[in-house]
Amino acid sequence: MTHLPTPRAAVTALPPYVPGRPPTPRPGLTTYKLSSNENPYPPLPGVVEAATRAVERMNRYPDMGCTELYAALADRLGVAPESLAAGTGSVAVLYHLLQAYCETGDEVVFAWRSFEAYPIAVAVTGASAVPVPLTADGRHDLDAMAAAITERTRVVVLCTPNNPTGPALTHAEVEAFCARAPEHVLVVVDEAYREFVRSPDPVDGVALHRAHPRVVVLRTFAKAYGLAGFRVGYALAHADVAAAVRACALPFGVSSVAQAAAIASLDAEDALLERVEALVAERARVYAGLVAQGWDVPDAQGNFVWLGLGDRALDFSAAADEAGLVVRPFAGDGVRVSIGEPEANTRFLELAARW
Ligand SMILES: *Cc1c(COP(=O)(O)O)cnc(C)c1O
Repeated sequence: MTHLPTPRAAVTALPPYVPGRPPTPRPGLTTYKLSSNENPYPPLPGVVEAATRAVERMNRYPDMGCTELYAALADRLGVAPESLAAGTGSVAVLYHLLQAYCETGDEVVFAWRSFEAYPIAVAVTGASAVPVPLTADGRHDLDAMAAAITERTRVVVLCTPNNPTGPALTHAEVEAFCARAPEHVLVVVDEAYREFVRSPDPVDGVALHRAHPRVVVLRTFAKAYGLAGFRVGYALAHADVAAAVRACALPFGVSSVAQAAAIASLDAEDALLERVEALVAERARVYAGLVAQGWDVPDAQGNFVWLGLGDRALDFSAAADEAGLVVRPFAGDGVRVSIGEPEANTRFLELAARW
């Protein structure tokens, strides 16, 4: 028997991240993946060309300083390049942030259920997760989250809109939360789905960043921008915090291709907004359809809807699979269904009506 060194206890105990899986092939039926909140559209105009040009330089390391990407983002957002920290997806940026600020004995507060990467990213650092239950309608309970902060709390994560339930926080709510958060705490505002928000008083991460030095805004090119496969996201934070995040990043993490594609995507704003509008319209159609069928659906402000199916979540997911749709079940809790191609959304509505 081979005796190997054992990983840290925190690592052995990590919950697995369950990725959205691809559809089971069904002869004669077009199948759709509605399990990872991906963008169903092809790349934005100019992105393939920019990425292709970058491919030709694959023998060289990428620009580790992400100089052009930071310059483009700084220009777009009206912030200093020093306040940015990019990574291979905003999940990676969150890992870097938690590594920079947390160790064993520290606490990280987040809403639950929320993004399943949070408890894993926290556990890797050795810190303790402090999950605070959502309200019955799938919203953050900000009073309970504030009350969960202790002397050992280093980071609080707000996810708006919340993945997987859908409701968004208002700017006033987040502003008030930040204003009363104690000085020893960083408030992370994960805005992965910000482009899809149509509720009143949407969170403005840049304004929060300007007003509160302890706010860290996370944004990604994976969802609205359609670059999930290239892995690029960033944090917007006080320059000192951003520097600590960059210090923990893997060297040369964001590839040349991803940097080029992200910059080109920022230049394709008109096409981006058009696609986001079409997805928002599809979301409204799906939401209205579900409500008309009698479903109780939390306010959907991302590119997905949530069915609180409880113990029947896995059964629903199996029925969806039969119908050529992959959805994302959370056993015992509910099912998250991404807004995809119109045909896919229609098929999902038909399935929900039959259920
Ligand atoms: C998808 C998602 C992200 C971004 O993930 P990437 O690593 O950028 O692909 C971040 N937060 C939430 C809540 C998400 O759902």
